[in-house]
Amino acid sequence: MKDIKSMTLEELTEEVQDLGEKAFRGTQLYEWMHKKLAVDFGEMTNLSEKLRSRLSEEYEYTTLSVVTTRESEKKDTRKFLFELADGNRIESVWMKYHHGNSVCISSQVGCRMGCRFCASTLDGLERNLTASEMLEQIYAITRLTGERVSNVVVMGTGEPLDNFENLIRFIALLTSEKGLHISARNITVSTCGIVPQMKRLAEEKLQITLALSLHATTDEKRKKLMPIANAYSINELMDACKYYFEQTGRRISFEYSLVGGVNDTDEDASQLIVLARSVGAHVNLIPVNPIEERDYVQSGAKRVRSFLQKLEKGHINATVRREMGRDIDGACGQLRRRMKGE
Ligand code: SAH
Repeated sequence: MKDIKSMTLEELTEEVQDLGEKAFRGTQLYEWMHKKLAVDFGEMTNLSEKLRSRLSEEYEYTTLSVVTTRESEKKDTRKFLFELADGNRIESVWMKYHHGNSVCISSQVGCRMGCRFCASTLDGLERNLTASEMLEQIYAITRLTGERVSNVVVMGTGEPLDNFENLIRFIALLTSEKGLHISARNITVSTCGIVPQMKRLAEEKLQITLALSLHATTDEKRKKLMPIANAYSINELMDACKYYFEQTGRRISFEYSLVGGVNDTDEDASQLIVLARSVGAHVNLIPVNPIEERDYVQSGAKRVRSFLQKLEKGHINATVRREMGRDIDGACGQLRRRMKGE
């Protein structure tokens, strides 16, 4: 069955015309799915009953069911475990900020990148998510919270650039005027650094923010944390960042998870300054969220502070990510693992 919620307005318009309907029915259908966030065809009352029943017979209408939710004590973070039509499960996180609500979505079921500190990759990749499955995480959360989502980060389970076509389609649908119309500038895509795909993304010339998970400043150290570093050197990554900026005018941000005794020395900070300067990057520091399966530890609060100060003295724009979801298995893939077999 065709996945109707992954179709662009143009594709949908053609589709309904092929069914013998007028073109404007495509727009109506699109708005029901992507603006009014209808949960099924039955809700679409301005479409004829005949058309609705035909659609439900011939098309797949992606929805997610909630397996469980967790709310942080401060009530500013909620984590959702969703089940897909095929029984696979994915996590999404809703975060409340003063400037609006942000949703962190998954782009794959599992991940094949193998980063050593990450829980999402422990069982490898199961499959890619479709564009509609990525969208539906945001739609379901909007329905459940009753609040508008203003920012989307593709930083949940999965490597978005390993699911390139679906990611691009997802962004087109999410930013479309007749859908939620979320500004591209409010969308962040995070990658472990697949260089050819970063270049390909640059050529799409989207106004999204690209975040690079750097986590180390020498190839040697990076290889110990991230297997992808065996394929692409930091030099190649920096070239890709420059290319991204040239093509899009958008500055990259670096994600840097501080792992105690591994990548948090003054020397690391000095080298990070050089790299961030070379591409004009903003740096996001994340105290590593220790997972049971690995013995990495967080850098102490003092170390984090002095690392940050060192970057600031080097005139690097840096922030320490607030750890919002610690009490609710907030780290990538943790809730999904905990709930396995339940
Ligand atoms: N695959 C993409 C996006 C998903 S991971 C990427 O690699 O960027 C989102 C971010 O969380 C990445 O920067 C990732 O390295 C980081 N991350 C994963 N597990 C973590 C953990 N246990 N502690 C801190 N950061 C973690």
